[in-house]
Amino acid sequence: MSSPTRPKKLIIAVDGPAGAGKSTIARLVAKRMNFLYLDTGAMYRALTLKALRKAVDISNAVQLTRLAKNTRIDLENNPDGSIKVLLDNEDVSTNIRKPEITKFVSDVAKVEGVRKEMLHLQRRFGLRSSCVLDGRDIGTVVFPNADRKFFLDAEFKTRVSRRHKELKDSREAVTAEEVKKDLKNRDTIDSNRECAPLKKAPDALYVDTTKMTIEEVVDTLLKHIRVRANRHNRPNGYG
Ligand code: C5P
Repeated sequence: MSSPTRPKKLIIAVDGPAGAGKSTIARLVAKRMNFLYLDTGAMYRALTLKALRKAVDISNAVQLTRLAKNTRIDLENNPDGSIKVLLDNEDVSTNIRKPEITKFVSDVAKVEGVRKEMLHLQRRFGLRSSCVLDGRDIGTVVFPNADRKFFLDAEFKTRVSRRHKELKDSREAVTAEEVKKDLKNRDTIDSNRECAPLKKAPDALYVDTTKMTIEEVVDTLLKHIRVRANRHNRPNGYG
């Protein structure tokens, strides 16, 4: 006879390129499901901040790997759904969004040794509780057995204007042309690196957010997650 199962922890993977709406959507989905939210990009950004402060040569994989091994990065969920990023116990939540970090983060994130350290942290986080993780390689590498996988995308022009608006809202003086250059550069590095490149997992749901509102995207994800969550919680598991 089968015994009733306890609700299982769920892992939701949200991948995609910059400006596709991942962090906004992942944060809202986590809030609505009462799950933890992990912004994995913030971890690479925090390490990049430390590398720049310590004048580590960004092209030196050995030095970057050593730095990653000797760095403590913690992410905490604030009650309003935003996250606090702690770099060696210092709150760097705002500093890591600066354009000078964005400029170098993909070069830091392409280093295999760096990714290995981040992978451990991300998996450990995923063991704590049901959570939504956003990044580039969550569904392909970090949690290939995630319960639900989404790949959010949007037309390049739309991604540029979203990112530009986001930066203007946080009072960063950048031109649309600079944002365009940054996205192109990061798309190229993130998609072509040897280790864990940005790509859609075969079993991820592709969502083109170009013409969708934030609420529409959130609803699309929630609908798919709830179908899966209901199945998990049936007495016999998958129904
Ligand atoms: O998501 P966000 O734009 O803040 O990510 C910053 C950078 O971190 C990305 O451009 C990418 O180079 C790197 N990243 C990654 N793998 C992840 C998350 C982010 O390589 N899972």
